[in-house]
Amino acid sequence: MVGTVMNCKKCNKIFQQRLHPICPACLQREDQQFTNLYRLLQNSAGFGGIDINTLAVRVGMSADQIEKWYMEGRLSTAGLFLKMPCQSCGSMCGEHQRKGRYCLKCSEMTANQAGVEVKTVQELQREEANEQRRLQQESLLRQNRLNLAKKEETSRFGFTVRQR
Ligand SMILES: [Zn+2]
Ligand SMILES: [Zn+2]
Repeated sequence: MVGTVMNCKKCNKIFQQRLHPICPACLQREDQQFTNLYRLLQNSAGFGGIDINTLAVRVGMSADQIEKWYMEGRLSTAGLFLKMPCQSCGSMCGEHQRKGRYCLKCSEMTANQAGVEVKTVQELQREEANEQRRLQQESLLRQNRLNLAKKEETSRFGFTVRQR
């Protein structure tokens, strides 16, 4: 099966898409980065984990991308050793030391102060998945509407007109 031709989401090069929205060269680089990242995380287990910024520099990618992979669950058990900054006080903490984007101390304080419910990683992951599903449905709906509009157009100006 021949894929469609499109621009790579990473380097913008034109390529034949098969399964991924990025070109083979970028895909290979991403795989390599992922392997490095995973190994570094596992190796960091002995000394209490590695913080996301250090990790980003060492594998040559953005902390945002690492966080995205983490949130998507791609780091699986190695994610345990990823330390991320608390959104409130900035202290670096491993998975068991934080709740969602906050360290345990801040999550407690925030919750107490504002009556806000601080979300766990699992909850955030679930929301992310729901959002993805919602976007997919939306785009399907849009596609259906387009097809419908096209059909109406055809019956108005094509088929029905010719029938008369
Ligand atoms: Zn590319
Ligand atoms: Zn904090």
